[in-house]
Amino acid sequence: MADPVRAPWEAPMRLALEEAAHAPLTGDVPVGAVVLAEDGTVLATGRNERELTGDPTGHAEVLALRRAAAARGSWRLTGCTLVVTLEPCTMCAGALVLSRVDRVVYGARDEKAGAAGSLWDVVRDRRLNHRPEVIHGVLEAECARQLTEFFRDTRGGGGAASATEPPGPQTLGRESSVPQTPGSPAPGSGTAGEGPGSGGLPVR
Ligand SMILES: [Zn+2]
Repeated sequence: MADPVRAPWEAPMRLALEEAAHAPLTGDVPVGAVVLAEDGTVLATGRNERELTGDPTGHAEVLALRRAAAARGSWRLTGCTLVVTLEPCTMCAGALVLSRVDRVVYGARDEKAGAAGSLWDVVRDRRLNHRPEVIHGVLEAECARQLTEFFRDTRGGGGAASATEPPGPQTLGRESSVPQTPGSPAPGSGTAGEGPGSGGLPVR
């Protein structure tokens, strides 16, 4: 049941997931990003390094955009696509608009801080004269699972009997972000790539 819109982005999303998987080694929330050139080659990758570097702007998307611009020798990333495991925040959405990327592809929605369709839609604000295309829900379940497992493990890591409690996003999250499952939490009722509201994500 290939989704013709999302299927082409699954391979780079897996790269982004691999990049994100390194983040917990430095105590960072696992978010990973990849910037692709027009022909699909990887220009740059990035992962959330806020804890590693002590930089409040050290989000995966910003770092990947900076590296892609350095690789290209220009801040203008026209024709490029940024693929990221979690819906961009307002800062990253702003950076994406400024970078002139053609397209933003993301996995898990961030209902609490997302700025590409959830809480805000900065990247497609009609008042802006550059609006990247947005494709969401690519490997959504895997992207959400990586985050929920991180928060579960972090909460449970101290040996306290609190692992089954919902994580405290205000103290743990990247901008208090924990992916939320929109709509019904019907177990196993959906697959990755079916779009917003599809089931099958970890129930919080
Ligand atoms: Zn961000």
